[in-house]
Amino acid sequence: MTVFVVSAPSGAGKTTLNRRLLKEYPQLEMSISHTTRPPRKGEQDGVHYHFIDRAAFEKMVAQKLFIEWAEVHGNFYGTSLLELKRIENAGKNPLLEIDVQGWHLIKPLLPQAVSIFILPPSLFSLWQRLESRGSDSLEIRWERLQNAHDEIEKSNEYEYLIINDELNEAFEKLKTLVTNGKASSEDTREGRLLCAKLNEEFKTADWIRELRSQLGS
Ligand code: 5GP
Repeated sequence: MTVFVVSAPSGAGKTTLNRRLLKEYPQLEMSISHTTRPPRKGEQDGVHYHFIDRAAFEKMVAQKLFIEWAEVHGNFYGTSLLELKRIENAGKNPLLEIDVQGWHLIKPLLPQAVSIFILPPSLFSLWQRLESRGSDSLEIRWERLQNAHDEIEKSNEYEYLIINDELNEAFEKLKTLVTNGKASSEDTREGRLLCAKLNEEFKTADWIRELRSQLGS
């Protein structure tokens, strides 16, 4: 069994890429996490997540039923050992769509896992994608952007970086990676260079300065 871990800041297109991947590769199976976050419109229990309340989540933590869990944007998320076992028993490879904290926790436990971080081409493009969703307030979007910046800073914990500038191109790279278990070192080098640029953008871009003064942060 090969475990694939895909992380990305919210708005970087990870869900779209992973959905396509799952469609083309029946040998991959999405690991369904448990979460205390309420379902969004169209989300189904047992399909997108196992939706549980805080008390039930805490009980699972106490019973050591999670291989990893983390608090993300005020809610708890975790990957259960049982879920990984279920996928392994089905003879498939699990795809874990988890955050950076989660990968940090399981990295020592799963040294053979293929870890992939998806980068937006710029923070501004990420901001535009967050805006186009139209569902979050300015404050929440700002929080997500700050979180994205933190995650990008920690992306050196991942073996492979994929830049999602053009969706089809990013998908081809992800596909190659899943098929061969390897990516060209050129892509990852490009990704590392981009991380430095994104960091600079966060510190110096005019639009970020304007946002900060607007939000008084
Ligand atoms: P969302 O609420 O948008 O579905 O997910 C928010 C974040 O939680 C995303 O970054 C997603 O990858 C992460 N996430 C989802 N499931 C898990 C999990 O089981 N463990 C961890 N650590 N993060 C998760």
